[in-house]
Amino acid sequence: MSYTDDANNPFASLAPTVWRGSTIVFDSFEDFVGRKSRQPDGYSYGITGTPTARSLERRIAALENGKHCVVMPSGASALITTVMAFVRAGDHLLISESCYGSLKTFGRQWLANFGVDVELYAPTIDGGIEALIRPNTRMICMEAPGTVTMEMQDVGAIVAGAKKNGVLTMIDNTWASPLFFKPLDHGVDFVIQAATKFFGGHSDLLMGCVSLNDAERYAVLRETQSIFGQATSPDDCFLVMRGLETFELRLREQARKALSIARWLEQQPMVKRVLFPALESDPGHALWKRDFTGNGCLFSIVLEAPSDESKFGAFFNALEHFPIGASWGGTHSLIAYYPASQQASRQFSPTDQPVVRISIGLEDETLLIDDLRRALDAYERAIR
Ligand SMILES: *Cc1c(COP(=O)(O)O)cnc(C)c1O
Repeated sequence: MSYTDDANNPFASLAPTVWRGSTIVFDSFEDFVGRKSRQPDGYSYGITGTPTARSLERRIAALENGKHCVVMPSGASALITTVMAFVRAGDHLLISESCYGSLKTFGRQWLANFGVDVELYAPTIDGGIEALIRPNTRMICMEAPGTVTMEMQDVGAIVAGAKKNGVLTMIDNTWASPLFFKPLDHGVDFVIQAATKFFGGHSDLLMGCVSLNDAERYAVLRETQSIFGQATSPDDCFLVMRGLETFELRLREQARKALSIARWLEQQPMVKRVLFPALESDPGHALWKRDFTGNGCLFSIVLEAPSDESKFGAFFNALEHFPIGASWGGTHSLIAYYPASQQASRQFSPTDQPVVRISIGLEDETLLIDDLRRALDAYERAIR
């Protein structure tokens, strides 16, 4: 009996098909016995993905100038699965201190207990990375600009140091997205996106992806994704493909507004610093200009210090168009708060002050600026 329907189907839609299935079935005993030979691209069980996931993976790989892509259930799982696929007990792992929080926590609280030597390095180390590389260094994790504190990294210098020593490199490229930076073109081995952010774009799903060129590593990554049970929902893959239809338009518009609002914020007396490499005043500006063709919609600000941090309530609670929440990159603007204690716990932070992180959405720019002005006024009254 044949379960494979190859009949010419005259239905043609512009929308991708959502293929659902916990498993797939085989036409013959021989097909079933040989099913593993279908990996890494083919289908042997639902967990490795359906044609819906493969369509999305091909689109993302093309955006990243990569040959392969593996989608994962979240940005966090994409980061962690990539490390787990290639790092073993006895290895040394270098993670930038400005990398995404759960990657650092995973390194320090899990990998360290599995016998991996995890070292956090200064995000702005640039070519100095070579001095940290040891014979057992296996991988270097980067993120530029970094989560919350927005330090730029010299990706070219770090990749050069890594390649000379046979060390793998990965980068979390969520801030710029492939629209504004293509790390594979700069020799990075693995590029991660939290597709939750720009690719999805509507704050309604979680997804991650890893893009790469090397076929053998792709097979290892696919197997790791499968063995760890990191399955993605075909419906979510469909939504990300729909998000990708408008991704470039959304990002260009959000990026334009973010830069304009950041420039305005820079002029406000209550704002001590704007952490955003697209601004000339940012210490990472030269690197950003050298490597990136645009800016993300996310930046951070440091406000005039209050006598106690509870005063930030006056700023946050006055906002009407910035819902308070983690995550970013969707059509709605968002704002989040990172207390001074978080920076104090770091060895290499650019500030010891609380950090306010702002994601600019698609709302009217004047509306957003008026909202921020009101909140800054309320904050000024509260701290004076
Ligand atoms: C949000 C985010 C992640 C994690 O993505 P999730 O899908 O929320 O797990 C990773 N890296 C960066 C830079 C992010 O902003």
